Amino acid sequence: MVTLTCVTPVEALERVVHCLDRANEIGFKTKAFVRALDVVRSTPAEQIADRAAHGTLTELDGIGESSATVIMQALAGESAYLDTLEQRTRVPITPDGQRYRDALRGDCHLHSRWSDGGATIEAMARTAHSLGHDYIVLTDHSARLTIAHGLQRDRVLAQLDDVVVLNQRLAPFRILTGIEVDILEDGSLDLDDDMLGQLDVVVASVHSKLRMDHDRMTERMVAAVRSPHVDILGHCTGRLIGKRPESSFDIDRVFAACVDNRTAVELNCRPERLDPPRAMLDRAIALGCHFSISSDAHAIGQLEWQLFGCDRAAERGVPIERIINTWSADDLLAWTHTH
Ligand SMILES: [Zn+2]
Ligand SMILES: [Zn+2]
Repeated sequence: MVTLTCVTPVEALERVVHCLDRANEIGFKTKAFVRALDVVRSTPAEQIADRAAHGTLTELDGIGESSATVIMQALAGESAYLDTLEQRTRVPITPDGQRYRDALRGDCHLHSRWSDGGATIEAMARTAHSLGHDYIVLTDHSARLTIAHGLQRDRVLAQLDDVVVLNQRLAPFRILTGIEVDILEDGSLDLDDDMLGQLDVVVASVHSKLRMDHDRMTERMVAAVRSPHVDILGHCTGRLIGKRPESSFDIDRVFAACVDNRTAVELNCRPERLDPPRAMLDRAIALGCHFSISSDAHAIGQLEWQLFGCDRAAERGVPIERIINTWSADDLLAWTHTH
């Protein structure tokens, strides 16, 4: 539970954005609150207080009625708007799922503004910390995904410098470096080996030619899983529930390759993905795979979506000791460095 006493207007607006994120409300209203947050951050606090006192907040470009209400309530020590929103957007979880959630110590797949995420690295890290995590793995997209502003080699290097600075500020919380690297059509990866080798954790995912024929898709995925740099196979079927079918591949061959090469299978928690599907997850458990339960968050509130994956893991009986983000950051790094 979040205690809502003595929050500043910035904190209150951040919490509104968090709640709208976790409810997957990505429309105009959320964008308006994000804009209001930017405005309040860049306006002197005295001016905000003065305008609140005189009822002129909405004269500021980017502040609408709802955001003005949130700001005024925060300044008055009230939280009616936020309380209602907190209740309405709470992410549900079963008691069995909660047992898995309590075991998690980090999140191995999330995006920042460096690619197609909506929040800064720092905001993602601070939110993960507030959710009880010890670490995150930062996995922005690789260059091939131009629509998502994927990172070229020089931007990966620049991001590594940023993470060093952030880690000094946020310690003992840790941001582990990483990438969600595209698995290209021939199974090669969308970043140089020497770059991949510098990153703490590499998630590899298929984002293109998802309807490739069964045999070629199998070869493509097995080749990626075999890469010594790949630690986690991201959202393996590529399905979007109700919108896009699963890719077709030889499940046993791909998961056996994951076991042989110590590549974890991601349990992607996004509600529209929940990938792998139940029967496939059962097979991965039976074959002895390791797993990550990862939010694939593109916004701060979406970090709470790990709850969906925890419920699914509990339902199918994923052995907790095989979930790599129940381990400490050091144990996780020791494991990724073994291959
Ligand atoms: Zn992806
Ligand atoms: Zn992703």
